[in-house]
Amino acid sequence: MLGQMMGTQLLVSSIIRHADRYHGDVEIVSRAVEGGIHRYTYCDAHRRAKQLANALTKLGVKPSDRVGTMAWNGYRHLEIYYAVSGMGAICHTINPRLFPEQLSYIINHAEDSYVMIDLTFVPLAEQLAPHCKSVKAWIIMTDRAHMPVATTLDHVLCYEDLIGRESDIYYWPQLDENTASSLCYTSGTTGNPKGVLYSHRSTVLHSYASVMPDCFALSAQDVVMPVVPMFHVNAWGIPYSALAVGAKLVLPGGGMDGASLHELMESEGVTFAAGVPTIWLGLLNHVKETGAKFNTLRRTIVGGSTCPPTMIRTFMEDYKVSVIHAWGMTETSPLGTVCTLKAKHKNLPIEEKLKILSKQGFAVNGITMKIVDKNGKELPRDGKAFGDLMVMGPWVVNSYYKGEGGSPLREGRWFPTGDVATIDADGYMQITDRSKDVIKSGGEWISSIELENIAMAHPAIAEAAVIGVAHPKWDERPLVVAVKKPGLKVSREELLGFYEGKIARWWTPDDVAFVESLPHTGTGKLLKMKLREDFADYKLPTA
Ligand code: ADP
Repeated sequence: MLGQMMGTQLLVSSIIRHADRYHGDVEIVSRAVEGGIHRYTYCDAHRRAKQLANALTKLGVKPSDRVGTMAWNGYRHLEIYYAVSGMGAICHTINPRLFPEQLSYIINHAEDSYVMIDLTFVPLAEQLAPHCKSVKAWIIMTDRAHMPVATTLDHVLCYEDLIGRESDIYYWPQLDENTASSLCYTSGTTGNPKGVLYSHRSTVLHSYASVMPDCFALSAQDVVMPVVPMFHVNAWGIPYSALAVGAKLVLPGGGMDGASLHELMESEGVTFAAGVPTIWLGLLNHVKETGAKFNTLRRTIVGGSTCPPTMIRTFMEDYKVSVIHAWGMTETSPLGTVCTLKAKHKNLPIEEKLKILSKQGFAVNGITMKIVDKNGKELPRDGKAFGDLMVMGPWVVNSYYKGEGGSPLREGRWFPTGDVATIDADGYMQITDRSKDVIKSGGEWISSIELENIAMAHPAIAEAAVIGVAHPKWDERPLVVAVKKPGLKVSREELLGFYEGKIARWWTPDDVAFVESLPHTGTGKLLKMKLREDFADYKLPTA
């Protein structure tokens, strides 16, 4: 027997319609690419999204067409998110930090019909345009006064001219909720990037889940600042979740340095911010150097790579900001797990709380996960056994765009994340490694992340990466590659001594190499592949 409830389709357009109707006067504040601060309301954003939908219709954009964006976090980008998906086309956010060859590959693979770009990315678009034959025009996200005087782009349109002549009467079509709404490519550290095609249904369910109290806990009283870019997994869904609850939205544009972020947080009263550890490191350095405080910030969500426990402690103890460590990936929309304490942890000493909060957390309701061994056999949830992390849920990828690489699923339903993790008896998952970063020593595995966290807890270390280096007897042994904090000293022996008593003795790294800086990907993650190349011929003293 079927249930007898309405089959109302879950659509992205319903989110902005709700924001307009019930939170119409709530502000969206953006640091504009042209300079200065731009502010308007949800009501204005909805109106302009409808104008844009009319303009795109006139340009010939049809349902399922891909429309690309290369843009910072700003109000026009938000309008594009809603206009393109809302009209039944697919909003393809492109990460401008990828290599140009990857970018033209992605644009060609997606067959983007138009690409909307911030002024910052005009030179990049000029470089890409000769290789991107599907693109009918590059739409520059600015007004007539700021349009570049000279550009080698053949077909350019001005965003404000386009929408300025359009009516704001537009009726969002009633789509099937399984219609594709947006497209993101994985960064493709191995092989070509692969496209993950989100649906209206997956996007709306993800936004409902993400605002829950033990998740982002967002409400109409919050002021939300996504520092994670809108070109990276939809800024973790915040452009949807903030509107879903009617929170004020603060979009920082291209100003990701500590000083710019802090200034905007204070002037706009930001209560909740989301970002990757590297960006937060810049922010914390800034407040430390200037003696500044966070007067309104209460919660920050940190993810994308392991949040060093020292960062959680600094935020909590020095600034009274709680850190919610989260894990996810492009293939999971991205929210998979979030780390918050349970009632029984309330009276634990701070050190014990910190131990829990350093984990990646338990599955967001809707996501199911397990860890398995090499043969696919499920491993115990004892916080010790570690194996390949598998997930499933309504906002997890089923297959890649255009069927690339065949079905990624195991047993027809589990998505293998490529991460190695433990799960404890309370369900808290902890990533021990990316499967390709695990250090294999004498047939046993050593977690590079755990060794990095210890190195980064040393007061003189700014950043550290641990990689496996070839060893004649053990196959691989760990090498710490570390950057010292400016003006501080630490020797190889001192740093290795710092591991004593913190881990099993055989996990202790064999050597330390001090470097000026570490390589990062376009999204701020350690580029260990590059490090492994750089240190391919490294001779360990123990070898
Ligand atoms: P890409 O896969 O394109 O590099 P993603 O943003 O999808 O970019 O990266 C997902 C990966 O990032 C995860 O599989 C995991 O390895 C890593 N990751 C994400 N969040 C965390 C976290 N909190 N702790 C450790 N690793 C994380």
